[in-house]
Amino acid sequence: MTDYAANRQQILSQIQDICQRCGVATNGVNLLAVSKMQSAEVVRQMFATGQRIFAENYLQEALNKQKDLMDLPIEWHFIGQIQRNKTRDLAAHFSWVHGVDRLIIAERLSQHLTQQAVEQGSEPVPLNICIQVNIDHEQSKGGCLPEEVSDLVQQMSRLPHLVLRGLMVIPEVNHQDAFVRTRALFDSVREQHASPTQWDTLSMGMSGDFADAIAAGATMIRIGTALFGQRVKS
Ligand SMILES: *Cc1c(COP(=O)(O)O)cnc(C)c1O
Repeated sequence: MTDYAANRQQILSQIQDICQRCGVATNGVNLLAVSKMQSAEVVRQMFATGQRIFAENYLQEALNKQKDLMDLPIEWHFIGQIQRNKTRDLAAHFSWVHGVDRLIIAERLSQHLTQQAVEQGSEPVPLNICIQVNIDHEQSKGGCLPEEVSDLVQQMSRLPHLVLRGLMVIPEVNHQDAFVRTRALFDSVREQHASPTQWDTLSMGMSGDFADAIAAGATMIRIGTALFGQRVKS
């Protein structure tokens, strides 16, 4: 087995153990491979181990990589910070966007999807959205405040071609209870709103804390280092 296959197997079996311990269905947790700062060749090798969903943080880097990997049926997720002037490319080149934290971004993504469908004379391809929550009210961090989530869900679920899937969170280090609070927020949205029909995703947990995230109900963990090894700046 290559290192990548071994790394991936190890994480998959850890997921299985944690799920068993917590009484969660194993197939309820998706492993998202975070390939920022990894080459297209490395992504290709990870794909060969069976991995199909990959996440990128930097738009230009992601677009270059996607070009090199066009022959592979990869599902691409964007997990980086979103600037307004990047929404057109995000709508065109990704299946999921995890970091949406304000209405204007969602509106623009929705408009681009409409426009791109018109230009191509095809049906719009729906874009899956997770709302990023700044669960610890940190100054430096992106994400809406927990108390804003309910209104954002209501407003975003009216926008065409967006599928609101759930919440994404990057808590402070050593803040395990942030996962539990995010889960509670996630559940409360489901109880309050009838409209987000596919409200099924809690995107939380990274290499260092995914066990706690799964224990709190994560359905998608975003793993870079534990899959690929340390990232090297080029
Ligand atoms: C880089 C990154 C990850 C992966 O982090 P690792 O610690 O390498 O697993 C997950 N989520 C986001 C938003 C990231 O930027």
